[in-house]
Amino acid sequence: MKNNSSAGTKATRYSELKTMLEERRRDLQAEVQGKMRDVRSEGAWGGKQNEVLDAVESSEADIQDEIEFALIQMKSETLNKVNDALMRLEQGDYGNCFECGEEIAEKRLRALPFAVRCKDCEEAREVAEQRERQVAARRGATSLFLDM
Ligand SMILES: [Zn+2]
Repeated sequence: MKNNSSAGTKATRYSELKTMLEERRRDLQAEVQGKMRDVRSEGAWGGKQNEVLDAVESSEADIQDEIEFALIQMKSETLNKVNDALMRLEQGDYGNCFECGEEIAEKRLRALPFAVRCKDCEEAREVAEQRERQVAARRGATSLFLDM
């Protein structure tokens, strides 16, 4: 363990990450609520509009609704992740690398709040994955020959 950061910087990091996550949560909540309102008000009008819309147009409206609902669902899933991250932050397990245990840079967390690895470990993993893919591709090609 090479953890020589003072209690002061830890507290700053904690409050900065907390603010970052809370801001994200607020934005997501506002977006989800705004979209829900849109869908609901469209739904109220939709009943009457559907009477005049022909089948093609109303099925297009259905697709629109489905896209809206999918978006809301996606946003609420992200919202759950943000809540989860905030909980982990409280417990002190947010923002540390899953592989090496070092703190993940705050800049990285701002860009990728659900990152579980530090930049170095992520890059190492990508290289390893690429190598695995190459090996798998070669193996695939070989087995193709063997099958013949
Ligand atoms: Zn790491």
